[in-house]
Amino acid sequence: MAKVKTDRREFVKYSTLGVLGAVMAGGVIASPYLNAEETRLRPPGSLGEKEFLGLCIKCGQCLQVCPFHSIELADFGKGHGVGTPYIDATKRACWACNAVPCVLACPTGALDHDCEKAEDIRMGIAVLEFPDTCIAMTNTPIPKGFSTKMHKFTDNVNNVTQVELDLVEKLDTFEGKQCTLCADMCPIPNPLSAIAMVPDKSGGKRPEIYDGCIGCGACEEVCPTQIPSIVVKTRVTYEEQYGKDKQS
Ligand code: SF4
Ligand code: SF4
Ligand code: SF4
Repeated sequence: MAKVKTDRREFVKYSTLGVLGAVMAGGVIASPYLNAEETRLRPPGSLGEKEFLGLCIKCGQCLQVCPFHSIELADFGKGHGVGTPYIDATKRACWACNAVPCVLACPTGALDHDCEKAEDIRMGIAVLEFPDTCIAMTNTPIPKGFSTKMHKFTDNVNNVTQVELDLVEKLDTFEGKQCTLCADMCPIPNPLSAIAMVPDKSGGKRPEIYDGCIGCGACEEVCPTQIPSIVVKTRVTYEEQYGKDKQS
């Protein structure tokens, strides 16, 4: 099985080189957006913004294979990079599929094929941006109907998948409990390497972020506060946000 997967990835890598050659020959690499700055979340494996914009041919392959409908294509109202894929974690985060199919589907390498599993993803870093609104700090139970937004999202997709249905079903089990949603819904294989609830001097608990965080935004999507208390800072590393020794 592992051999098949490796062969498939090798095939895609070499196909990628072919497509890349065609792209360069066609001059597409001279994108008018090369100097643009971007603060939106790009899909897993995304190269640096300039390289990404130079290589992405806006084919939409990544979003077609995403079983969570996480990826959107930027329209004219979203500024530069029209037609390029991005993720709005307040609507639907990346849920960190193990085999990262969006990367595998990318024909140009704009999403780097060295990103082979969930732990390889590095989209940004989670930050408890608004601690004062985090309901875990005040031991406030998760309000009824907090998952309405996620249910509506799932109801409105055309080809809803089983993993999306499982997701909303799991979310509903948290209603009325003390909030640990960001930590408990963290989708990576070892969530404790990314986030844990720790006692806070306020008497409640707060999420603490560790260097295993991949910046998928799932915590931001599920946070039940009106404006998510926890957010992902795009393309920021753990070290940049927290420093080498700090653990919160
Ligand atoms: S890893 Fe999975 S959920 Fe995340 S963007 Fe890729 S396909 Fe979608
Ligand atoms: S802490 Fe949040 S952003 Fe980081 S890996 Fe977990 S769910 Fe994703
Ligand atoms: S999901 Fe996390 S950040 Fe949001 S309220 Fe709950 S504990 Fe606080």
